Amino acid sequence: MAGDARGFYATLELDSSASAADIKSAYRRLAKEYHPDTGRVRDGGARFQQIGAAYEILGDAEKRADYDNLSEQADQADYSEKRRPLSPIRCGTCRQITAQPRYIIFWRVISVVLATTRTPVQGIFCSTCAAKESLKSTAITGLLGWWGFPWGPIWTVLEGVKNLFGGVQNKEHEEALLWHNALAFADAGKVPLSYALAERLLSAKNGEIRAGAAQLTTFYRSQGFKPTGTLKNNWINNPAQFLAKLLLLSMVPVALTAAIMYSDRSSPEASYGVASDLSEAYREPTANSLEAPADDYNASEPATPTCTRKVENGKILVGAKRLGEDGHILQISNGSSGDAIVKVRSTDTGNLLASFFVKQNSESQLSGIPDGSYKIQYAIGTQLAENCKSFTGMSAVNEFPNPESLTTTSEETFEGTLVKRKRLSYTLYAVPGGDVAPTSISPEEFESGT
Ligand SMILES: [Zn+2]
Repeated sequence: MAGDARGFYATLELDSSASAADIKSAYRRLAKEYHPDTGRVRDGGARFQQIGAAYEILGDAEKRADYDNLSEQADQADYSEKRRPLSPIRCGTCRQITAQPRYIIFWRVISVVLATTRTPVQGIFCSTCAAKESLKSTAITGLLGWWGFPWGPIWTVLEGVKNLFGGVQNKEHEEALLWHNALAFADAGKVPLSYALAERLLSAKNGEIRAGAAQLTTFYRSQGFKPTGTLKNNWINNPAQFLAKLLLLSMVPVALTAAIMYSDRSSPEASYGVASDLSEAYREPTANSLEAPADDYNASEPATPTCTRKVENGKILVGAKRLGEDGHILQISNGSSGDAIVKVRSTDTGNLLASFFVKQNSESQLSGIPDGSYKIQYAIGTQLAENCKSFTGMSAVNEFPNPESLTTTSEETFEGTLVKRKRLSYTLYAVPGGDVAPTSISPEEFESGT
């Protein structure tokens, strides 16, 4: 882990991987040692004040995260100038280099004899260590958090839910870490990794990072490097882990509720009374609401129904769920005489993988295409039909002649597997031309399986 911009960690004689408990005990020890009242220190309490100022920031989980972020950015500030080479960021837990680090705060809520404490576990994590810590903090909180009053249940729910969703994260801080790594891998001569990180940061929230990433990718392109690799995202939420955490977190209240309901059932009056009330209350509105809308349906139907929504350039019309988070990319420039619907079909089965919309004189891409062999078809039209997924009339329906075979290859580097994927690029012309001339197909073939 990197910097200490204003020397707060140094003031408390710690480094930036210190735990919340370390910080607290260092503060107590030093505050006692440098307290002006002891008469042993002759600096008029200056050191004591520094210690207090450091603790005010580092003793608060969120202020500490902001401070770590600031230190990170200060580290990169001397980029462009003659800076010392950066080294890639390591996970604060396992100390391995990680290509895609994140700064996360997990909370542990523990109640002991009605008193409840919250302890942050924070720092830079690799995805593996983050998943472990998330599970651990959830288990501790789920088992030990509930038993205090009133804060036990309140904090358990509030902080437990944060852990459930992977802890408290900050997008800008993540960008700063990735940008650090983009520069560090550049220093280390690992261009593909650096390039992949910089490409991802082209859409960063932070303007400076966005500009830096644009500069770096332009530089790589000018050096003749091709952006063939994208980084495999290691941070995708695992549904099984989510369920396990949910179970851990809700075990105690579920068990308690079950126990209470079981004891309730033994008194028949109470439970039967409730049941009959509910069923009557629900029956009436259902009967009414079924009749009401039936009349409205026949009211108005336009003669030639067209799409009433505004469909954005690049909108995926069919198959969004079949596209992955990673995958190959199909880039389309539409220079034709109308809007285009582009379809990607399996060469073997003819089944539609996905279709998307590219406005006239616009460019767009479909990403996340899984491995396979595909043919690419497109139709040109001006008016989308009622379903917003096809045209009311098509002026051209074509297919590119050569099936595209897409295969992922990968190269192992640190935690970040550099996955190499294809980026296909086609231009649709008003008049036939270009390197690949499309062949005309029937509208039926185009519409099949939509
Ligand atoms: Zn780790």
